[in-house]
Amino acid sequence: MIGLISATAAGAVARDRLATAWPTRTRVYDGSVGDAVRAAFAECEQVVCFLATGAVVRLVAPLLNDKTSDPGIVCVDEAGRFAVSLVGGHGGGANELAREVGELLGAEPVVTTATDSAGVPGLDTLGFPVEGDVAGVSRAMLDGEPVALDAELPWPLPALPSNVTYPAPGAAPTIRVSDRALEPGDREVVLRPPSLIVGVGASKGAPVDEVLGLVEDALREAGLSERSVAEIATVDAKADEPGILGAAERLGVPVVTYSAEELAKVEVPNPSDAPLAAVGTPSVAEAAALVRGGELLVPKRKSERTDGQPAMATCAVVRRLARGRLAVVGLGPGARDLLTPRAKDELRRASVLVGLDQYVDQIRDLLRPGTRVLESGLGAEEERARTAVAQARRGQAVALIGSGDAGVYAMASPALAEASDDIDVVGVPGVTAALAAGAILGAPLGHDHVSISLSDLHTPWEVIERRVRAAAEADIVVTFYNPRSRGRDWQLPKALAILAEHREPTTPVGVVRNASRADESSRVTTLGSLDPAIVDMMTVVTVGNTATREIAGRMVTPRGYRWQEEPK
Ligand code: SAH
Repeated sequence: MIGLISATAAGAVARDRLATAWPTRTRVYDGSVGDAVRAAFAECEQVVCFLATGAVVRLVAPLLNDKTSDPGIVCVDEAGRFAVSLVGGHGGGANELAREVGELLGAEPVVTTATDSAGVPGLDTLGFPVEGDVAGVSRAMLDGEPVALDAELPWPLPALPSNVTYPAPGAAPTIRVSDRALEPGDREVVLRPPSLIVGVGASKGAPVDEVLGLVEDALREAGLSERSVAEIATVDAKADEPGILGAAERLGVPVVTYSAEELAKVEVPNPSDAPLAAVGTPSVAEAAALVRGGELLVPKRKSERTDGQPAMATCAVVRRLARGRLAVVGLGPGARDLLTPRAKDELRRASVLVGLDQYVDQIRDLLRPGTRVLESGLGAEEERARTAVAQARRGQAVALIGSGDAGVYAMASPALAEASDDIDVVGVPGVTAALAAGAILGAPLGHDHVSISLSDLHTPWEVIERRVRAAAEADIVVTFYNPRSRGRDWQLPKALAILAEHREPTTPVGVVRNASRADESSRVTTLGSLDPAIVDMMTVVTVGNTATREIAGRMVTPRGYRWQEEPK
Protein backbone atom coordinates (compact mmCIF):
# COMPACT_ATOMS: atom_id res chain seq x y z
CA MET A 1 0.00 0.00 0.00
CA ILE A 2 1.18 3.56 -0.73
CA GLY A 3 0.26 6.07 2.00
CA LEU A 4 -0.53 9.61 0.75
CA ILE A 5 -0.10 12.64 2.99
CA SER A 6 -0.61 16.32 2.24
CA ALA A 7 -0.82 19.48 4.30
CA THR A 8 -2.15 22.16 1.93
CA ALA A 9 -4.85 22.60 -0.71
CA ALA A 10 -2.32 22.43 -3.56
CA GLY A 11 -0.84 19.27 -2.05
CA ALA A 12 -4.29 17.76 -1.70
CA VAL A 13 -4.99 18.29 -5.41
CA ALA A 14 -1.86 16.38 -6.40
CA ARG A 15 -2.55 13.77 -3.72
CA ASP A 16 -6.04 13.19 -5.09
CA ARG A 17 -4.70 12.73 -8.61
CA LEU A 18 -2.58 9.87 -7.33
CA ALA A 19 -5.44 8.45 -5.28
CA THR A 20 -7.74 8.52 -8.33
CA ALA A 21 -5.15 7.03 -10.68
CA TRP A 22 -4.18 4.21 -8.29
CA PRO A 23 -7.32 3.50 -6.26
CA THR A 24 -6.26 0.03 -5.12
CA ARG A 25 -2.62 0.88 -4.43
CA THR A 26 -3.05 4.02 -2.32
CA ARG A 27 -4.57 5.12 0.96
CA VAL A 28 -5.03 8.77 1.99
CA TYR A 29 -3.96 9.67 5.54
CA ASP A 30 -5.82 12.70 6.89
CA GLY A 31 -5.49 14.52 10.16
CA SER A 32 -2.41 16.10 11.68
CA VAL A 33 0.60 15.67 9.44
CA GLY A 34 2.74 14.23 12.24
CA ASP A 35 0.22 11.55 13.12
CA ALA A 36 -0.43 10.81 9.46
CA VAL A 37 3.28 10.29 8.73
CA ARG A 38 3.70 8.02 11.76
CA ALA A 39 0.66 5.94 10.87
CA ALA A 40 1.60 5.63 7.19
CA PHE A 41 5.20 4.78 8.09
CA ALA A 42 3.99 1.92 10.26
CA GLU A 43 1.30 0.61 7.90
CA CYS A 44 2.54 1.14 4.33
CA GLU A 45 5.33 -0.22 2.17
CA GLN A 46 5.66 3.21 0.56
CA VAL A 47 4.70 6.78 1.44
CA VAL A 48 4.29 9.86 -0.75
CA CYS A 49 4.39 13.16 1.17
CA PHE A 50 3.28 16.39 -0.51
CA LEU A 51 5.47 18.35 1.86
CA ALA A 52 8.87 20.03 1.96
CA THR A 53 11.74 17.55 2.29
CA GLY A 54 12.82 19.33 5.49
CA ALA A 55 9.48 18.69 7.17
CA VAL A 56 9.50 15.05 6.12
CA VAL A 57 13.09 14.52 7.26
CA ARG A 58 12.22 15.85 10.73
CA LEU A 59 9.10 13.69 10.95
CA VAL A 60 10.57 10.40 9.78
CA ALA A 61 14.04 10.67 11.36
CA PRO A 62 12.92 9.20 14.70
CA LEU A 63 11.07 6.40 12.89
CA LEU A 64 13.93 5.16 10.72
CA ASN A 65 15.11 1.69 11.50
CA ASP A 66 16.76 -0.30 8.72
CA LYS A 67 16.96 0.16 4.95
CA THR A 68 15.76 -3.37 4.35
CA SER A 69 12.52 -2.84 6.24
CA ASP A 70 11.75 0.92 6.22
CA PRO A 71 9.13 2.06 3.71
CA GLY A 72 10.29 3.93 0.62
CA ILE A 73 9.48 7.63 0.96
CA VAL A 74 8.94 10.09 -1.86
CA CYS A 75 8.45 13.84 -1.35
CA VAL A 76 6.60 16.00 -3.86
CA ASP A 77 6.94 19.78 -3.55
CA GLU A 78 3.92 22.09 -3.32
CA ALA A 79 4.21 23.16 -6.95
CA GLY A 80 4.38 19.53 -8.10
CA ARG A 81 7.65 20.09 -9.96
CA PHE A 82 9.80 17.43 -8.34
CA ALA A 83 9.27 13.92 -6.97
CA VAL A 84 12.20 13.31 -4.65
CA SER A 85 13.21 9.80 -3.64
CA LEU A 86 14.10 10.54 -0.02
CA VAL A 87 14.47 7.25 1.84
CA GLY A 88 14.57 3.61 0.75
CA GLY A 89 15.67 4.21 -2.86
CA HIS A 90 16.35 0.54 -3.62
CA GLY A 91 14.97 -1.61 -0.81
CA GLY A 92 11.85 0.52 -0.34
CA GLY A 93 11.38 1.09 -4.06
CA ALA A 94 11.39 4.87 -3.64
CA ASN A 95 13.48 5.48 -6.78
CA GLU A 96 11.02 3.59 -8.93
CA LEU A 97 8.07 5.22 -7.16
CA ALA A 98 9.56 8.70 -7.70
CA ARG A 99 9.71 7.91 -11.43
CA GLU A 100 6.14 6.66 -11.48
CA VAL A 101 4.82 9.62 -9.50
CA GLY A 102 6.85 11.96 -11.70
CA GLU A 103 5.33 10.47 -14.82
CA LEU A 104 1.81 10.79 -13.46
CA LEU A 105 2.11 14.34 -12.16
CA GLY A 106 4.46 15.65 -14.83
CA ALA A 107 7.11 16.16 -12.11
CA GLU A 108 10.84 15.61 -12.50
CA PRO A 109 11.94 12.49 -10.56
CA VAL A 110 14.93 13.29 -8.34
CA VAL A 111 17.05 10.23 -7.61
CA THR A 112 20.31 10.63 -5.76
CA THR A 113 21.27 7.00 -5.17
CA ALA A 114 24.65 6.91 -6.88
CA THR A 115 24.24 3.74 -8.93
CA ASP A 116 20.84 4.75 -10.28
CA SER A 117 21.74 8.25 -11.27
CA ALA A 118 24.76 7.11 -13.29
CA GLY A 119 22.73 4.53 -15.23
CA VAL A 120 24.79 1.77 -13.62
CA PRO A 121 22.95 -1.12 -12.00
CA GLY A 122 23.16 -1.28 -8.21
CA LEU A 123 24.80 -4.56 -7.30
CA ASP A 124 21.91 -5.23 -4.94
CA THR A 125 19.32 -4.73 -7.71
CA LEU A 126 20.52 -7.37 -10.13
CA GLY A 127 18.00 -9.89 -8.89
CA PHE A 128 20.59 -12.18 -7.32
CA PRO A 129 21.53 -12.53 -3.67
CA VAL A 130 24.76 -10.63 -3.14
CA GLU A 131 27.29 -10.91 -0.35
CA GLY A 132 30.28 -8.84 0.68
CA ASP A 133 31.30 -5.21 0.24
CA VAL A 134 28.34 -4.05 -1.87
CA ALA A 135 28.80 -0.36 -1.08
CA GLY A 136 32.56 -0.38 -1.69
CA VAL A 137 32.45 -2.27 -4.99
CA SER A 138 29.47 -0.23 -6.28
CA ARG A 139 31.40 2.93 -5.44
CA ALA A 140 34.48 1.68 -7.32
CA MET A 141 32.30 0.78 -10.30
CA LEU A 142 30.86 4.30 -10.33
CA ASP A 143 34.19 6.01 -9.86
CA GLY A 144 35.54 4.29 -12.96
CA GLU A 145 38.13 2.38 -10.98
CA PRO A 146 39.14 -0.93 -12.60
CA VAL A 147 36.82 -3.63 -11.28
CA ALA A 148 37.37 -7.30 -12.02
CA LEU A 149 34.54 -9.53 -13.13
CA ASP A 150 35.34 -13.06 -12.09
CA ALA A 151 32.43 -15.02 -13.54
CA GLU A 152 32.91 -18.68 -12.68
CA LEU A 153 29.50 -19.28 -14.15
CA PRO A 154 28.19 -17.56 -17.24
CA TRP A 155 24.82 -16.19 -16.20
CA PRO A 156 22.75 -13.45 -17.87
CA LEU A 157 23.66 -10.28 -16.01
CA PRO A 158 22.77 -6.77 -17.04
CA ALA A 159 25.75 -5.15 -18.73
CA LEU A 160 28.22 -3.62 -16.33
CA PRO A 161 30.27 -0.50 -17.03
CA SER A 162 33.38 -0.65 -19.18
CA ASN A 163 35.71 -0.37 -16.19
CA VAL A 164 34.45 -3.79 -15.15
CA THR A 165 36.83 -6.05 -17.04
CA TYR A 166 37.44 -9.71 -17.54
CA PRO A 167 39.77 -11.43 -16.83
CA ALA A 168 40.69 -10.10 -13.41
CA PRO A 169 43.52 -7.57 -13.46
CA GLY A 170 44.72 -8.58 -9.98
CA ALA A 171 44.18 -6.74 -6.76
CA ALA A 172 41.26 -4.63 -7.95
CA PRO A 173 37.82 -4.69 -6.36
CA THR A 174 36.11 -7.77 -7.67
CA ILE A 175 32.64 -8.98 -8.58
CA ARG A 176 32.53 -12.74 -8.41
CA VAL A 177 29.72 -14.78 -9.86
CA SER A 178 29.75 -18.10 -8.07
CA ASP A 179 27.63 -20.74 -6.39
CA ARG A 180 30.55 -21.97 -4.30
CA ALA A 181 30.62 -21.31 -0.57
CA LEU A 182 33.43 -18.80 -0.69
CA GLU A 183 33.68 -15.91 1.71
CA PRO A 184 33.93 -12.58 -0.09
CA GLY A 185 37.29 -11.00 0.61
CA ASP A 186 38.16 -7.38 1.10
CA ARG A 187 36.56 -5.12 -1.57
CA GLU A 188 34.83 -8.10 -3.08
CA VAL A 189 31.22 -9.07 -3.69
CA VAL A 190 29.86 -12.46 -4.62
CA LEU A 191 26.72 -12.66 -6.74
CA ARG A 192 24.76 -15.86 -6.25
CA PRO A 193 23.07 -17.00 -9.46
CA PRO A 194 20.23 -19.54 -9.00
CA SER A 195 22.34 -22.35 -10.44
CA LEU A 196 21.79 -25.28 -8.09
CA ILE A 197 18.96 -27.78 -8.25
CA VAL A 198 18.57 -30.00 -5.21
CA GLY A 199 16.80 -33.28 -5.95
CA VAL A 200 15.08 -34.75 -2.91
CA GLY A 201 13.39 -38.05 -2.20
CA ALA A 202 11.63 -38.74 1.09
CA SER A 203 9.63 -41.50 2.71
CA LYS A 204 6.17 -40.68 3.94
CA GLY A 205 6.37 -38.63 7.13
CA ALA A 206 10.07 -37.71 6.85
CA PRO A 207 10.62 -34.85 9.34
CA VAL A 208 11.46 -31.37 7.98
CA ASP A 209 14.62 -31.25 10.05
CA GLU A 210 15.85 -34.49 8.59
CA VAL A 211 15.32 -33.31 5.01
CA LEU A 212 16.72 -29.85 5.64
CA GLY A 213 19.71 -31.21 7.61
CA LEU A 214 20.52 -33.57 4.75
CA VAL A 215 20.38 -30.79 2.14
CA GLU A 216 22.46 -28.43 4.26
CA ASP A 217 25.11 -31.07 4.94
CA ALA A 218 25.27 -32.01 1.28
CA LEU A 219 25.78 -28.40 0.21
CA ARG A 220 28.29 -27.65 2.95
CA GLU A 221 30.41 -30.71 2.31
CA ALA A 222 30.45 -30.00 -1.42
CA GLY A 223 31.47 -26.40 -0.76
CA LEU A 224 28.30 -24.95 -2.28
CA SER A 225 26.26 -21.91 -1.26
CA GLU A 226 22.68 -22.33 -0.05
CA ARG A 227 21.92 -18.95 -1.60
CA SER A 228 22.42 -20.35 -5.11
CA VAL A 229 19.78 -23.03 -4.66
CA ALA A 230 17.07 -22.36 -7.25
CA GLU A 231 14.60 -25.08 -6.39
CA ILE A 232 13.96 -28.44 -4.81
CA ALA A 233 12.98 -31.07 -7.35
CA THR A 234 11.15 -34.31 -6.62
CA VAL A 235 8.61 -36.75 -8.00
CA ASP A 236 4.90 -35.84 -8.41
CA ALA A 237 3.90 -38.35 -5.73
CA LYS A 238 5.83 -36.31 -3.17
CA ALA A 239 4.34 -32.93 -4.13
CA ASP A 240 2.54 -32.66 -0.77
CA GLU A 241 5.14 -34.36 1.45
CA PRO A 242 5.38 -32.04 4.47
CA GLY A 243 9.09 -32.70 5.09
CA ILE A 244 9.99 -31.60 1.55
CA LEU A 245 7.65 -28.60 1.53
CA GLY A 246 8.92 -27.50 4.94
CA ALA A 247 12.57 -27.78 3.92
CA ALA A 248 11.90 -25.79 0.73
CA GLU A 249 10.12 -23.11 2.70
CA ARG A 250 13.00 -22.79 5.12
CA LEU A 251 15.41 -22.46 2.17
CA GLY A 252 13.05 -19.97 0.52
CA VAL A 253 12.81 -21.89 -2.77
CA PRO A 254 9.96 -23.50 -4.73
CA VAL A 255 9.34 -27.23 -5.06
CA VAL A 256 9.19 -28.51 -8.63
CA THR A 257 7.86 -32.00 -9.36
CA TYR A 258 8.12 -34.42 -12.29
CA SER A 259 6.19 -37.57 -13.19
CA ALA A 260 7.72 -40.93 -12.25
CA GLU A 261 7.61 -41.81 -15.94
CA GLU A 262 9.76 -38.84 -16.86
CA LEU A 263 12.21 -39.48 -14.02
CA ALA A 264 12.53 -43.17 -14.93
CA LYS A 265 14.01 -42.12 -18.28
CA VAL A 266 16.87 -40.12 -16.75
CA GLU A 267 20.19 -41.90 -16.62
CA VAL A 268 21.60 -41.75 -13.10
CA PRO A 269 24.69 -43.20 -11.42
CA ASN A 270 22.86 -44.65 -8.40
CA PRO A 271 19.49 -46.21 -9.25
CA SER A 272 17.83 -48.44 -6.65
CA ASP A 273 14.87 -50.72 -6.17
CA ALA A 274 13.19 -49.03 -3.21
CA PRO A 275 11.83 -45.97 -5.05
CA LEU A 276 11.00 -48.13 -8.04
CA ALA A 277 8.64 -50.13 -5.86
CA ALA A 278 7.27 -47.11 -3.99
CA VAL A 279 6.77 -44.50 -6.71
CA GLY A 280 7.70 -46.17 -9.99
CA THR A 281 11.13 -44.74 -10.82
CA PRO A 282 14.52 -46.19 -9.91
CA SER A 283 15.75 -42.75 -8.90
CA VAL A 284 14.03 -39.70 -7.38
CA ALA A 285 16.75 -37.42 -5.99
CA GLU A 286 19.31 -37.81 -8.77
CA ALA A 287 16.77 -38.07 -11.57
CA ALA A 288 14.75 -35.04 -10.44
CA ALA A 289 17.92 -32.97 -10.12
CA LEU A 290 19.23 -34.08 -13.52
CA VAL A 291 16.04 -34.17 -15.54
CA ARG A 292 16.63 -30.75 -17.15
CA GLY A 293 20.33 -31.43 -17.68
CA GLY A 294 23.37 -30.11 -15.89
CA GLU A 295 26.31 -31.42 -13.95
CA LEU A 296 25.87 -33.76 -10.97
CA LEU A 297 27.93 -32.21 -8.16
CA VAL A 298 26.63 -34.31 -5.26
CA PRO A 299 25.49 -37.86 -6.08
CA LYS A 300 22.69 -39.40 -4.05
CA ARG A 301 23.25 -39.42 -0.32
CA LYS A 302 21.01 -40.45 2.53
CA SER A 303 20.10 -38.65 5.69
CA GLU A 304 21.80 -39.72 8.87
CA ARG A 305 19.68 -40.54 11.88
CA THR A 306 20.93 -40.53 15.43
CA ASP A 307 18.26 -43.00 16.58
CA GLY A 308 19.49 -45.84 14.41
CA GLN A 309 16.26 -45.92 12.35
CA PRO A 310 16.49 -46.18 8.53
CA ALA A 311 17.12 -42.95 6.65
CA MET A 312 13.93 -41.26 5.43
CA ALA A 313 15.40 -38.82 2.91
CA THR A 314 17.83 -38.73 -0.02
CA CYS A 315 19.25 -35.81 -1.92
CA ALA A 316 21.48 -34.98 -4.88
CA VAL A 317 22.75 -31.64 -6.17
CA VAL A 318 23.09 -30.57 -9.81
CA ARG A 319 24.53 -27.41 -11.31
CA ARG A 320 22.16 -26.55 -14.11
CA LEU A 321 23.19 -24.89 -17.32
CA ALA A 322 22.66 -21.14 -17.38
CA ARG A 323 19.69 -20.14 -19.49
CA GLY A 324 20.71 -17.29 -21.70
CA ARG A 325 18.24 -14.63 -22.72
CA LEU A 326 17.62 -13.49 -26.26
CA ALA A 327 15.57 -10.32 -26.58
CA VAL A 328 14.44 -9.53 -30.12
CA VAL A 329 13.90 -5.81 -30.00
CA GLY A 330 12.11 -3.59 -32.49
CA LEU A 331 13.50 -0.05 -32.49
CA GLY A 332 10.60 1.60 -34.28
CA PRO A 333 10.87 3.57 -37.53
CA GLY A 334 13.54 6.01 -36.34
CA ALA A 335 12.29 8.74 -34.01
CA ARG A 336 13.46 8.26 -30.45
CA ASP A 337 9.99 8.82 -29.00
CA LEU A 338 8.64 5.99 -31.12
CA LEU A 339 11.05 3.60 -29.39
CA THR A 340 9.05 1.92 -26.64
CA PRO A 341 10.10 2.10 -22.97
CA ARG A 342 10.21 -1.68 -22.97
CA ALA A 343 12.67 -1.71 -25.84
CA LYS A 344 14.84 0.77 -23.94
CA ASP A 345 14.82 -1.48 -20.87
CA GLU A 346 15.89 -4.47 -22.90
CA LEU A 347 18.74 -2.52 -24.52
CA ARG A 348 19.98 -1.45 -21.10
CA ARG A 349 19.76 -4.95 -19.76
CA ALA A 350 21.73 -6.62 -22.52
CA SER A 351 25.35 -7.57 -22.07
CA VAL A 352 25.68 -8.28 -25.80
CA LEU A 353 24.01 -6.34 -28.58
CA VAL A 354 23.76 -7.78 -32.09
CA GLY A 355 22.55 -5.77 -35.05
CA LEU A 356 23.04 -4.03 -38.36
CA ASP A 357 25.56 -1.21 -37.94
CA GLN A 358 23.14 1.55 -38.99
CA TYR A 359 20.57 0.41 -36.40
CA VAL A 360 23.22 0.19 -33.69
CA ASP A 361 24.07 3.83 -34.40
CA GLN A 362 20.42 4.68 -33.82
CA ILE A 363 20.54 3.56 -30.16
CA ARG A 364 24.22 3.44 -29.15
CA ASP A 365 23.72 6.19 -26.57
CA LEU A 366 21.12 4.08 -24.74
CA LEU A 367 23.43 1.16 -24.06
CA ARG A 368 25.00 0.77 -20.68
CA PRO A 369 28.70 1.43 -20.78
CA GLY A 370 30.50 -1.85 -21.29
CA THR A 371 27.88 -3.54 -23.46
CA ARG A 372 29.60 -5.71 -26.06
CA VAL A 373 28.42 -4.60 -29.50
CA LEU A 374 28.61 -7.10 -32.37
CA GLU A 375 27.62 -5.15 -35.46
CA SER A 376 27.66 -6.22 -39.05
CA GLY A 377 26.75 -4.79 -42.42
CA LEU A 378 23.82 -5.30 -44.80
CA GLY A 379 23.40 -8.84 -46.01
CA ALA A 380 24.93 -10.54 -42.99
CA GLU A 381 21.53 -11.70 -41.66
CA GLU A 382 22.48 -15.32 -41.24
CA GLU A 383 25.63 -14.43 -39.37
CA ARG A 384 23.73 -12.04 -37.08
CA ALA A 385 21.08 -14.64 -36.29
CA ARG A 386 23.71 -17.30 -35.52
CA THR A 387 25.83 -14.94 -33.42
CA ALA A 388 22.87 -13.80 -31.34
CA VAL A 389 21.73 -17.34 -30.60
CA ALA A 390 25.27 -18.59 -29.91
CA GLN A 391 25.84 -15.77 -27.40
CA ALA A 392 22.57 -16.53 -25.63
CA ARG A 393 23.50 -20.21 -25.45
CA ARG A 394 26.62 -19.17 -23.60
CA GLY A 395 24.40 -17.71 -20.91
CA GLN A 396 24.55 -14.06 -22.02
CA ALA A 397 21.71 -11.54 -22.06
CA VAL A 398 21.55 -10.71 -25.77
CA ALA A 399 19.55 -8.01 -27.53
CA LEU A 400 19.08 -8.58 -31.26
CA ILE A 401 17.78 -5.39 -32.81
CA GLY A 402 15.85 -4.47 -35.93
CA SER A 403 14.16 -1.32 -37.19
CA GLY A 404 10.39 -1.06 -36.98
CA ASP A 405 9.27 -4.38 -35.57
CA ALA A 406 12.06 -6.94 -35.42
CA GLY A 407 9.64 -9.65 -36.45
CA VAL A 408 8.60 -7.94 -39.71
CA TYR A 409 10.99 -8.60 -42.62
CA ALA A 410 13.72 -8.66 -39.99
CA MET A 411 15.80 -10.70 -37.62
CA ALA A 412 13.28 -12.47 -35.38
CA SER A 413 12.47 -15.34 -37.71
CA PRO A 414 16.01 -16.23 -38.81
CA ALA A 415 17.13 -16.06 -35.16
CA LEU A 416 14.30 -18.15 -33.77
CA ALA A 417 14.77 -20.67 -36.56
CA GLU A 418 18.29 -21.21 -35.16
CA ALA A 419 17.27 -21.25 -31.49
CA SER A 420 16.48 -24.30 -29.39
CA ASP A 421 14.53 -24.44 -26.13
CA ASP A 422 17.62 -24.03 -23.98
CA ILE A 423 17.42 -20.24 -24.07
CA ASP A 424 14.73 -17.78 -23.02
CA VAL A 425 13.38 -15.59 -25.80
CA VAL A 426 11.46 -12.35 -25.38
CA GLY A 427 10.09 -10.23 -28.19
CA VAL A 428 9.60 -6.49 -27.87
CA PRO A 429 7.24 -5.18 -30.54
CA GLY A 430 8.05 -2.02 -32.43
CA VAL A 431 6.18 0.50 -34.56
CA THR A 432 6.52 -0.75 -38.13
CA ALA A 433 7.25 1.39 -41.17
CA ALA A 434 3.73 0.64 -42.45
CA LEU A 435 2.15 1.95 -39.24
CA ALA A 436 4.41 4.99 -39.04
CA ALA A 437 3.65 5.79 -42.69
CA GLY A 438 -0.07 5.21 -42.13
CA ALA A 439 -0.12 7.77 -39.32
CA ILE A 440 1.62 10.30 -41.57
CA LEU A 441 -0.67 9.70 -44.52
CA GLY A 442 -3.93 9.81 -42.55
CA ALA A 443 -5.89 6.61 -42.07
CA PRO A 444 -5.05 4.38 -45.06
CA LEU A 445 -5.12 1.15 -43.03
CA GLY A 446 -8.65 1.65 -41.68
CA HIS A 447 -9.83 -1.61 -43.22
CA ASP A 448 -8.16 -4.89 -44.21
CA HIS A 449 -4.58 -4.41 -45.31
CA VAL A 450 -1.49 -6.37 -46.16
CA SER A 451 2.25 -5.77 -46.43
CA ILE A 452 4.15 -7.17 -49.38
CA SER A 453 7.88 -6.96 -49.82
CA LEU A 454 8.94 -6.43 -53.40
CA SER A 455 12.45 -7.70 -52.76
CA ASP A 456 13.00 -10.75 -54.94
CA LEU A 457 16.44 -11.44 -53.49
CA HIS A 458 15.12 -14.27 -51.30
CA THR A 459 11.61 -14.75 -52.72
CA PRO A 460 10.99 -15.72 -56.36
CA TRP A 461 9.15 -13.04 -58.30
CA GLU A 462 6.36 -15.48 -59.20
CA VAL A 463 5.51 -15.84 -55.52
CA ILE A 464 5.47 -12.08 -55.00
CA GLU A 465 3.35 -11.57 -58.09
CA ARG A 466 0.84 -14.22 -56.97
CA ARG A 467 0.40 -12.38 -53.66
CA VAL A 468 0.04 -8.98 -55.30
CA ARG A 469 -2.58 -10.45 -57.61
CA ALA A 470 -4.46 -11.97 -54.69
CA ALA A 471 -4.47 -8.63 -52.85
CA ALA A 472 -5.65 -6.93 -56.03
CA GLU A 473 -8.51 -9.36 -56.50
CA ALA A 474 -9.51 -9.22 -52.83
CA ASP A 475 -9.49 -5.40 -52.82
CA ILE A 476 -7.09 -5.17 -49.88
CA VAL A 477 -5.03 -2.07 -49.07
CA VAL A 478 -1.38 -2.90 -49.84
CA THR A 479 1.81 -1.49 -48.33
CA PHE A 480 4.91 -2.28 -50.37
CA TYR A 481 8.14 -2.71 -48.42
CA ASN A 482 11.56 -2.76 -50.10
CA PRO A 483 9.80 -1.21 -53.08
CA ARG A 484 12.63 -0.16 -55.34
CA SER A 485 16.42 0.02 -55.39
CA ARG A 486 19.00 0.90 -57.99
CA GLY A 487 19.28 -2.69 -59.19
CA ARG A 488 15.57 -3.50 -58.78
CA ASP A 489 13.49 -0.99 -60.64
CA TRP A 490 10.87 -2.91 -62.66
CA GLN A 491 9.11 -4.67 -59.76
CA LEU A 492 7.20 -1.66 -58.41
CA PRO A 493 5.69 -0.60 -61.77
CA LYS A 494 4.76 -4.22 -62.42
CA ALA A 495 3.08 -4.59 -59.01
CA LEU A 496 1.20 -1.30 -59.44
CA ALA A 497 0.02 -2.43 -62.89
CA ILE A 498 -1.45 -5.59 -61.35
CA LEU A 499 -3.34 -3.54 -58.76
CA ALA A 500 -4.50 -1.17 -61.52
CA GLU A 501 -6.30 -4.06 -63.22
CA HIS A 502 -8.75 -3.98 -60.30
CA ARG A 503 -8.59 -0.34 -59.08
CA GLU A 504 -9.29 3.01 -60.70
CA PRO A 505 -6.34 5.21 -61.75
CA THR A 506 -7.68 7.72 -59.20
CA THR A 507 -7.07 5.31 -56.28
CA PRO A 508 -5.01 7.20 -53.69
CA VAL A 509 -1.42 6.07 -53.15
CA GLY A 510 0.73 7.28 -50.24
CA VAL A 511 4.47 7.44 -50.55
CA VAL A 512 6.43 7.94 -47.33
CA ARG A 513 10.18 8.21 -47.21
CA ASN A 514 12.14 8.04 -43.96
CA ALA A 515 9.05 8.04 -41.76
CA SER A 516 9.77 9.72 -38.40
CA ARG A 517 13.39 10.38 -39.31
CA ALA A 518 15.06 13.76 -39.76
CA ASP A 519 14.53 13.88 -43.53
CA GLU A 520 10.99 12.54 -43.57
CA SER A 521 8.91 13.27 -46.66
CA SER A 522 5.54 12.09 -47.83
CA ARG A 523 2.99 12.65 -50.53
CA VAL A 524 -0.43 11.40 -51.48
CA THR A 525 -0.76 10.73 -55.21
CA THR A 526 -2.77 8.27 -57.30
CA LEU A 527 -2.29 4.91 -58.92
CA GLY A 528 -2.46 6.58 -62.31
CA SER A 529 0.10 9.29 -61.67
CA LEU A 530 2.67 7.84 -59.25
CA ASP A 531 6.20 8.38 -60.54
CA PRO A 532 8.21 5.33 -59.40
CA ALA A 533 11.41 7.39 -59.57
CA ILE A 534 10.50 9.11 -56.28
CA VAL A 535 10.55 5.73 -54.54
CA ASP A 536 13.67 4.14 -53.06
CA MET A 537 14.66 1.69 -50.32
CA MET A 538 13.94 4.23 -47.56
CA THR A 539 10.34 4.32 -48.69
CA VAL A 540 7.06 2.48 -48.22
CA VAL A 541 4.22 2.78 -50.71
CA THR A 542 0.64 2.29 -49.55
CA VAL A 543 -1.99 1.73 -52.20
CA GLY A 544 -5.62 2.25 -51.19
CA ASN A 545 -8.50 -0.09 -51.99
CA THR A 546 -11.50 0.85 -54.14
CA ALA A 547 -13.11 2.70 -51.21
CA THR A 548 -10.03 4.71 -50.17
CA ARG A 549 -10.41 8.48 -50.66
CA GLU A 550 -8.22 11.52 -50.43
CA ILE A 551 -9.94 13.86 -47.99
CA ALA A 552 -8.36 17.23 -47.14
CA GLY A 553 -5.02 15.97 -48.44
CA ARG A 554 -5.18 12.84 -46.26
CA MET A 555 -5.60 9.27 -47.31
CA VAL A 556 -8.67 7.67 -45.71
CA THR A 557 -9.88 4.09 -46.08
CA PRO A 558 -13.44 3.90 -44.71
CA ARG A 559 -14.38 1.28 -42.20
CA GLY A 560 -17.81 1.08 -43.78
CA TYR A 561 -19.84 2.57 -40.94
CA ARG A 562 -23.43 3.06 -42.00
CA TRP A 563 -23.65 6.45 -40.32
CA GLN A 564 -20.98 7.77 -42.63
CA GLU A 565 -22.87 6.81 -45.78
CA GLU A 566 -26.15 8.50 -44.97
CA PRO A 567 -26.69 12.06 -46.15
CA LYS A 568 -26.49 14.59 -43.32
N1 SAH B 1 11.30 -4.38 -39.70
C1 SAH B 1 10.97 -3.23 -40.49
C2 SAH B 1 11.04 -3.48 -41.96
C3 SAH B 1 12.41 -3.79 -42.50
S1 SAH B 1 12.45 -4.07 -44.25
C4 SAH B 1 9.59 -2.72 -40.07
O1 SAH B 1 8.93 -3.36 -39.22
O2 SAH B 1 9.18 -1.66 -40.51
C5 SAH B 1 13.16 -2.57 -44.82
C6 SAH B 1 12.14 -1.73 -45.56
O3 SAH B 1 11.27 -1.17 -44.61
C7 SAH B 1 12.69 -0.55 -46.31
O4 SAH B 1 13.14 -0.92 -47.60
C8 SAH B 1 11.51 0.37 -46.40
O5 SAH B 1 10.61 -0.06 -47.39
C9 SAH B 1 10.83 0.09 -45.07
N2 SAH B 1 11.18 1.09 -44.02
C10 SAH B 1 11.82 0.86 -42.87
N3 SAH B 1 11.89 1.98 -42.12
C11 SAH B 1 11.27 2.94 -42.82
C12 SAH B 1 10.97 4.33 -42.55
N4 SAH B 1 11.38 4.92 -41.43
N5 SAH B 1 10.28 5.01 -43.49
C13 SAH B 1 9.87 4.42 -44.62
N6 SAH B 1 10.11 3.12 -44.91
C14 SAH B 1 10.80 2.39 -44.02
